[in-house]
Amino acid sequence: MTTSTSVPGPPPSGDVPAPPTMRDVLAAARRIDGLVVRTPALRHPELDRAAAAAGAAGVDLVVKHENLQHTGAFKVRGALNLLLGFEDHERRRGIVAYSTGNHAQALAYAARHTGTPCTIVMPHHPNPLKERAVRELGAEVLLHGETFDDAREQAGRVAATCGARLVGAANEPVLVAGVATATLELLEQAPDLDVLVVPVGGGSGAAAACLVAAALEPGLRVVAVQAAASPAAHDSWRAGELRTAPNATRAEGLAVGCGFALTQAVLRDRLADFLLVDDDAIAAAQRAYLTGARTVAEGAGAAALAAVLSHPEQFAGRRVGVVCSGGNASETELRRALAD
Ligand SMILES: *Cc1c(COP(=O)(O)O)cnc(C)c1O
Repeated sequence: MTTSTSVPGPPPSGDVPAPPTMRDVLAAARRIDGLVVRTPALRHPELDRAAAAAGAAGVDLVVKHENLQHTGAFKVRGALNLLLGFEDHERRRGIVAYSTGNHAQALAYAARHTGTPCTIVMPHHPNPLKERAVRELGAEVLLHGETFDDAREQAGRVAATCGARLVGAANEPVLVAGVATATLELLEQAPDLDVLVVPVGGGSGAAAACLVAAALEPGLRVVAVQAAASPAAHDSWRAGELRTAPNATRAEGLAVGCGFALTQAVLRDRLADFLLVDDDAIAAAQRAYLTGARTVAEGAGAAALAAVLSHPEQFAGRRVGVVCSGGNASETELRRALAD
């Protein structure tokens, strides 16, 4: 869907916010308790067999089903944590965000819940399912540019003009703290994992997983996954500095063209490895979810499973947590996955 290869510069650096602490994560868990789904963490024997057939003999997969979260993705955890923490004057100013879909849906959902005015800038030709959901949640939608990065620049201009709070997708400690509650749950549901595989766009989900793992289970290896066609976070992590990269993956939840300072700072020391998967491997993992786990995963949501299937040697004989981060797959996307 997003096929531009333009490479705009990274977001203005300014001061890098400090990452959240475990205290922030526990406060987020209390704040959003009852407002988010405690999503299931499930074993699917057919996925284990598929992974074994790919070369990961003896792997024991546990899928964290954030595809079943409100709005169909984990991001609502962060959005609710942010907006529930607003003072009245912040709420009245409203929020502006840029997104290819799930960040927008999450903020629109939390904005409706808290009565906060919400404007979303999306690149042209968004996933129609996600665009419709955002409009139905009552947010104002502006379409601008071809990529996530074009929308980001426009959102900055809109926020500056109307005085609203610009909510980025990655350099936001309060979002990371909220998102971290998914890992907190998973470690309660499956306390015996060896490895946790997390998909990355801007990196908030992976940074959150690293923070919680470091605090609660320092032996747990957190492995990040990005689409090979949009490898900015991967490249930034390998280089040890923020990088931009071509941004051409079909998985819109992973379609980000630059590294972000906050999430990279967390990932730098704490991530065990960073893998890349191509879009066809992601489609194959979506098919495996559909046929082997009765699960609709969008491309980004299937990327962690794709990493296990594409890099089986790392996972053989291990207990592996796999984050199925979202389920908002368009009909076109599902047809393609099944046709491959
Ligand atoms: C946003 C998103 C991601 C990537 O998360 P980051 O926190 O930006 O790295 C992965 N999967 C889905 C479904 C998403 O919506």
